[in-house]
Amino acid sequence: MELSKRQERIIEIVKEAGPITGENIAEKLSLTRATLRPDLAILTMAGFLDARPRVGYFFTGKTGSELLTEQIKKFKVQQFQHVPIVVKESVSVYDAISTMFLEDVGTLFVVDDHSCLTGVLSRKDLLRASIGQQDLNSVPVHIIMTRMPNITVCRKEDLLIDVAMKLINKQIDGIPVVRDTEAGLEVIGRITKTTITKVFVELITNDQV
Ligand code: ADP
Repeated sequence: MELSKRQERIIEIVKEAGPITGENIAEKLSLTRATLRPDLAILTMAGFLDARPRVGYFFTGKTGSELLTEQIKKFKVQQFQHVPIVVKESVSVYDAISTMFLEDVGTLFVVDDHSCLTGVLSRKDLLRASIGQQDLNSVPVHIIMTRMPNITVCRKEDLLIDVAMKLINKQIDGIPVVRDTEAGLEVIGRITKTTITKVFVELITNDQV
């Protein structure tokens, strides 16, 4: 994150004189305590400073990049998941290809009548099926999909970094976010390589270190 001149000055003061009260920091800067309050809140929330009641503010000793890493490690799936694009098991390969184009995704999740996960269709799964001789309208996707229980899933409370590692280790492009129900694993979202790329770009552009 980018700090203002005043916030940098506050860190310097706390480094030199901490633990120090908000009142004393304000005095050193010839500002009121009220003016300083938002800056102190930001610096505390971001982890540069810590505050102890009746003691004051002190410097945590953490650098910007350490704090950013800590922040990224806490990212949860639910903060970043997108809506899943699903098809029913009985849908034809032809219709699944159309859905993939229309929805502009690279992975489709296959579900049963309870919206529960039964399979996954990647671009290559559909390509492979298409280079055969079959009539794509008459082949249902459940014939060619990767099926349960061999599907890597995640849950909304999982850490995003763990899901990113699964994408790399399993060499797949997308992972469904599921919720446990009596009928099975209900598909409620998706995390894909694009999700992770977007997070990376947002971190660099909105939140420069
Ligand atoms: P592509 O095949 O287009 O490169 P992937 O790398 O995602 O896309 O898929 C590779 C294979 O892994 C495909 O056969 C696909 O069905 C399967 N697959 C994709 N996602 C998952 C997943 N979450 N769990 C298990 N297998 C998957």
